[in-house]
Amino acid sequence: MGQDAESLHGRTLCGLRDGLARREFSSVDLTEALLERISGVGAPLNAFITVTAELALQQARAADRLLASGKAGALTGLPIVHKDLFCTRGVLTTCGSRILDNFVSPYDATVVERLAAAGAVMLGKTNMDEFAMGSSNETSYFGPVRNPWNAALSPGGSSGGSAAAVAARLVPAATGTDTGGSIRQPAALTGTTGIKPTYGRVSRYGMVAFASSLDQAGVITRCAEDAALLLGVMAGFDPRDSTSAEAPVPDYLAGLGKPVKGLRIGIVRQHFDAGLDPAVAGPVRDALAVLEAQGATTVEVDLPNLDLSVPTYYVVAPAEASSNLSRFDGVRYGHRADNPKDLLDLYCRTRGEGFGAEVKRRIMTGTYVLSAGYYDAYYLKAQKVRQLISRDFASAFEQVDVIAGPTAPTPAFALGDKTDDPIQMYLNDIYTIGANLAGLPGMSIPCGFAGGLPVGLHLVGAHFGESTLLNCAQQYQALTDWHRAAPEGYA
Ligand code: GLN
Repeated sequence: MGQDAESLHGRTLCGLRDGLARREFSSVDLTEALLERISGVGAPLNAFITVTAELALQQARAADRLLASGKAGALTGLPIVHKDLFCTRGVLTTCGSRILDNFVSPYDATVVERLAAAGAVMLGKTNMDEFAMGSSNETSYFGPVRNPWNAALSPGGSSGGSAAAVAARLVPAATGTDTGGSIRQPAALTGTTGIKPTYGRVSRYGMVAFASSLDQAGVITRCAEDAALLLGVMAGFDPRDSTSAEAPVPDYLAGLGKPVKGLRIGIVRQHFDAGLDPAVAGPVRDALAVLEAQGATTVEVDLPNLDLSVPTYYVVAPAEASSNLSRFDGVRYGHRADNPKDLLDLYCRTRGEGFGAEVKRRIMTGTYVLSAGYYDAYYLKAQKVRQLISRDFASAFEQVDVIAGPTAPTPAFALGDKTDDPIQMYLNDIYTIGANLAGLPGMSIPCGFAGGLPVGLHLVGAHFGESTLLNCAQQYQALTDWHRAAPEGYA
């Protein structure tokens, strides 16, 4: 039918939805065109762990039948890919780890189920840092992902495969997860739009657990409108996740298009301190000026305990990870060491072989901070500081609607650059981690370039303030073109 592949992959999800509705092309046309890109121009990026071509075509054919019969749902026939941390029934689900390299999930995550029920066509599972631990996608057992803006650079992490796939226009949208910044930081480093909703807004059921009090699912797209479309389908109470919120889900799409006049934007002074690359600060300040020119006001807000967020996170997250990852023992599922001489040998060798260095580092740190002698000094202390950080945000949101700043301190960095220095790697999430500790929604949108590489504007909202973030992002994107820029060779 009519359209060539190029014009299809260049469209946003909402643009594709309209094209399908007008019957300009079929879901099968679209699926075929994108599968060709994934295995063609996209292959060197290593953005995928599994491509589900046959399943996708089957779903696309079913979608075309629904479209023809006039019974289409919100996403019927629209392509999506899932971070390989979401369980997908009958499909390999590795979480980027050798320990799950043979794990075919017997069930779907709620996110996967809801998107499929709305008609989305799944094209595959994306590469990621092992168990979502990392900021560069280099801890993946399946090798690093390359940044489409420059193949020598990291796309960020841990949702690096999802971000790279969207940036390279292999797919219009991908799911991701964010425990400390893993949707927003890769979105910033690849020039894509990423949203991590409020903790509890989206069900965690069927997400391989990293740090359960911080993990939250979200999406990476090319624009705020597409994020609003997907979030509306994904969000909402799920009886299978006791931490999912019962709060009603607003119509995020209908909430777009409101002028930002009167929007109160908080600026955190420490966000612009010495740690921020001046080449990133420039575009971020320009973006704030764009919003101010539309009648938004900026005020300085204080988050006095902000500098404690990275150390707090690196006690809480490893503690929860050490507990969550105890289930990988070689007995129930996943990798199992050959010829164990006894049960202890089975555990030790399975875990020794199955986990990579960063995961082991986290398990050891987490076990240490939870141990009887150190619990009070580290874990309990971190929980108290977490509370202080949450209160800082709560008082800031008494004065402002949104807090804005840079998403990451630098643009994309070279693969290999930070792998020998975990602290440098951890500091990449210095601006994003606070929102996870406080359970707040956060978003990153493209706001310019530094040395030819994308820069992200970070927006944090009050609890359940997703509509405010999405609208602010959409208003900004209506006035700017940064989110439309494509990396060379991927236009
Ligand atoms: N980079 C952070 C970490 O390594 C955050 C990861 C995430 O959000 N999943 O833990």
